[in-house]
Amino acid sequence: MSDLPNLDHYWLPFTANRQFKSMPRLFQAAKGNYYTTIDDRRLLDGTAGLWCVAAGHGREEIAVSVANQLRTLDYAPAFQNSHPLAFEAAERLAQYMPPGLDRIFFTGSGSESADTALKIALAYHRVTGNPLRNKLVGRERGYHGVNFGGIAVGGIAGNRKAFGNGLAGVDHIRHTLDIGRNAFTRGLPQDGGIALANEFEQRITTLHDPATIAALIVEPMQGSAGVLLPPVGYLKRLREICDKHGILLIFDEVITGFGRLGTKFASDYFGVVPDIITCAKALTNGAVPMGAVAVKRDIYDAFMANSPAGGIELPHGYTYSAHPVACAAALATLDIFATEKLEDRAAGLSTHFEQVAHSLKGLPFVKDIRNLGLVAGIELESIPGKPGAAAFATYLKCYEMGVLVRYTGDILAISPPLTIEKDEIDRIFSTIGEALTTLAAEGEAGLDPTRHLKNEQQWVA
Ligand code: PLP
Repeated sequence: MSDLPNLDHYWLPFTANRQFKSMPRLFQAAKGNYYTTIDDRRLLDGTAGLWCVAAGHGREEIAVSVANQLRTLDYAPAFQNSHPLAFEAAERLAQYMPPGLDRIFFTGSGSESADTALKIALAYHRVTGNPLRNKLVGRERGYHGVNFGGIAVGGIAGNRKAFGNGLAGVDHIRHTLDIGRNAFTRGLPQDGGIALANEFEQRITTLHDPATIAALIVEPMQGSAGVLLPPVGYLKRLREICDKHGILLIFDEVITGFGRLGTKFASDYFGVVPDIITCAKALTNGAVPMGAVAVKRDIYDAFMANSPAGGIELPHGYTYSAHPVACAAALATLDIFATEKLEDRAAGLSTHFEQVAHSLKGLPFVKDIRNLGLVAGIELESIPGKPGAAAFATYLKCYEMGVLVRYTGDILAISPPLTIEKDEIDRIFSTIGEALTTLAAEGEAGLDPTRHLKNEQQWVA
């Protein structure tokens, strides 16, 4: 077991710091579909890190490519200069994108990609002579990262209300959770999609003038808020409404991009092509921070055609846009996707994954199970006065039994690397099942987080 570091100085993101520091869970290594913790536990990765390690951990190809790049060109100024790998990575990513979305802006993360996409949408309408199209529409429970644009269009109140007012001129449409909720639907809910999408049109025509709406941003499948699936026909109808009213449609594919649903992007899965796609995470297999925004060529061309000659067409960018090391990681990752056809692999495993996920129906606490591709959300009964307690306790139990799952509120989210094997899928869900059964047997005491994890040496007072 490695020594525990001094825990005082690091402020962990989206984490209950005091609780975490009383029972730290630290990883020291990862290979394939497994993590190793500093107390030498081997954890099967049921979450692909944070939805990002699609090709499995410790990929040698990426490590070599990154190391070589660091030795060759560690950094090139991103503004007014560039380097060949930036263009190569953009070309390769454009080829991987749905047809037509072939102009690429690089960022450093999913949050930066969301804000970049929103800024491009607003600036596009200005540059094409429609400055009054300045409102943005997102969706309840939507998650578009943590920057100001992202939390404004995002629909998770808890992520916004700590920070005051946020952006003006933003509205939200209803989330898709109520459709088919608690029905243990396998895959997409069949009904209600068109009516729900029509609420968007009703909202913008009654509460706004549609000619003032710049863009609608949605995750094709909402991940972070607990795996919310779009009913059949819903996204297509949103596309039609956007077309009818001249509104840009942005798909945030930070989670759904790169094979998660069994296709390259969710756009391919649903057969709906947005005007802008954001991505990040699996773009570099999580190895190096990077995000990207892909726009339709017309959008890029409009900026080029309508900006003063010699002037900057889009006053936006990051020091680390198209960072050479990130580009090297992205190219190596795209190579892996091309050779290993990870999207097809995910598609091939998805029926087995669905069956095993739904085998948890009827176990204690389980209120609903939702799934698509290699994603499953297991919604647990909320314990009165203790929201999220059952999911947190389940996560800890699974950790103790050697499986890493993710919890968000009362929902467990499972999204393994696309390199997962069938028996590993079985193990993830049987472990969750065992954890739930044990918790139920333990009653109130089982929900006390300090009771979990057998090796308590590393816990600090
Ligand atoms: N958009 C979506 C849909 C996400 O799921 C996430 C992260 O989970 C983000 C944006 C933010 O990405 P990042 O944490 O890289 O900023």
